[in-house]
Amino acid sequence: MGDVRPIYTRCPLCGQVFPHLPPGSYVTVGRESDLCPRFPGRQSDAAKILQREVTMCPACGFAAPENFEEVDLSFDERYELEERLAGDGMLRVFKSNPTPWLPFHAAELCGRERDFSHFRLGDICLRASWVCRKERQQPFESSFQHRAVRHFMRALDTEPLDWRELPLTTYLIGELNRRLGHHRDALNWFVNAERMIGNRPELAWLNRLISEQRKLAESAAA
Ligand SMILES: [Zn+2]
Repeated sequence: MGDVRPIYTRCPLCGQVFPHLPPGSYVTVGRESDLCPRFPGRQSDAAKILQREVTMCPACGFAAPENFEEVDLSFDERYELEERLAGDGMLRVFKSNPTPWLPFHAAELCGRERDFSHFRLGDICLRASWVCRKERQQPFESSFQHRAVRHFMRALDTEPLDWRELPLTTYLIGELNRRLGHHRDALNWFVNAERMIGNRPELAWLNRLISEQRKLAESAAA
């Protein structure tokens, strides 16, 4: 994965300047069934690449998936964020010795305060579950999968998703349920996703993925 030089970033919330690794370009070799990219080489390297997608300030815990220079916080947002970050139990416990998933936890918390869509919050939690899997932290993987499912279900109910996001989100709810052991729920979501796709050639790959995962869920539910 080539050497990446840290760059210095200024926290938009507390002003702390700190070094971090920017997300770089990398080679992938396909995706797993929950869309986690596969990387050649060691799993621990893969986790490090995925972790670079979120930046967290080591001083206050503010975290975001976008470049910190692009973050523009209102007065009210600042106040709410400071309160929420200071009161968060996970950050209190882990901030001095951050776990690989902690920046994603903090990014979800900050994203809620910044009115991110549930679709985007679900994406942050899904990526967190990938990092946990690569790091073999199974209980945390499940916990983030649950959080992703909750956000994606809210997104389906309340947000305008496009023709691609709609079946993809529906499929992901099914696949995450399957991974959590809820095979009958998974089957229902897979059927819904297939209906949404219909015969769209652009989504033929997703149809193929659904029929494979459906077989796994069917044999596990039997
Ligand atoms: Zn900060």
